[in-house]
Amino acid sequence: MKIAFFSAKSYDREYFNACPELIRHSISYFEVQLTAQTVNLAQGFDAVCVFVNDVVDRQTIESLTAMNVKVTALRCAGFNNVDMEAADESGMTVVRVPAYSPQSVAEHAVAMILTLNRKTHRAYNRVREGNFSIENLTGFNLYNKTVGVIGTGLIGASFCEIMLGFGCKVIAFDITESDALKAKGVVYSSIDTVLNTSDIISLHCPLNVHTAHLIDARRISKMKKGVMLINTSRGGLIHTRDAIEGLKKGRIGYLGIDVYEQEAGLFFKDQSELVMQDDVMARLVSFPNVLITGHMGFFTKEALEEIANITLQNLTDVENGSTLKNKVSYTR
Ligand code: NAD
Repeated sequence: MKIAFFSAKSYDREYFNACPELIRHSISYFEVQLTAQTVNLAQGFDAVCVFVNDVVDRQTIESLTAMNVKVTALRCAGFNNVDMEAADESGMTVVRVPAYSPQSVAEHAVAMILTLNRKTHRAYNRVREGNFSIENLTGFNLYNKTVGVIGTGLIGASFCEIMLGFGCKVIAFDITESDALKAKGVVYSSIDTVLNTSDIISLHCPLNVHTAHLIDARRISKMKKGVMLINTSRGGLIHTRDAIEGLKKGRIGYLGIDVYEQEAGLFFKDQSELVMQDDVMARLVSFPNVLITGHMGFFTKEALEEIANITLQNLTDVENGSTLKNKVSYTR
């Protein structure tokens, strides 16, 4: 297949070009995001390959199908940036990479917890400046703390297992409960019990109409004072301005986010020479107890290899008319 590859980065080229399955396809890499404005670049291709912040909305899908591009291959798990209703109506096939390395994201969530808790980001800077004082760097033991997990799919399950290893009590909410996790010691509860009784909360559910702004002022006000909130899933799960109020009041004691509601115009770009225009992000980075990473939970060698393998295999399967195990289906 001829693939128009949007939002291409150097690491994408490195791992896709090294993938043996590329022998069946050809890729043209475009650094720009796929949007209704850039969609014409896909003219003459069979498929587009997109990432988390490409905008595959109704307008883009209609333009793609008008130029006979009938396949969208997501090189990620989440598909909230694709208008699935429009894709379904246009006969667009959408495939994704549902699981490449759940451990990569789960381990990143744990890295955020340990950084925020033990303040290693601050200790690192102090020591580099010759300041060996440990004043105000007090942390807390993870052992025996209650960790609440929202969404116990592939990433959430891996996260639960790691936290059980720390000796934490792990409580969880999911619309589908896992017997395997229960057998390992995870206790399922209502979403309110999980949010109101946990010392640490980690979000691992998808962003959809039911989960948008799942964490808002009302829910934050009922959380344990000083709670640690971690989001490696999708920015839209948290009402960011409400989280900022929660931080100012001390209700949220620590916030670790790898994803951000307005990340589309910000993340994956070096903006260090520019004046920050996003006032919400500017406020967030001003807190000493907020840790932000730029959507890099997935970013390990193992995950990048798997993403390239599965994405190209998905496209081979579409081309061959094989059963599409990674097809995204529209559900009303
Ligand atoms: P998954 O589909 O295996 O698991 C999602 C779980 O959420 C499922 O168990 C599902 O039942 C549950 N869920 C759905 N709706 C829910 C609701 N309303 N309340 C509670 N639980 C609900 O997905 P996954 O592979 O574990 O990925 C989870 C999310 O992580 C993805 O949707 C994606 O947004 C995000 N992600 C982030 C990165 C990153 O780099 N930061 C990388 C990959 C995935």
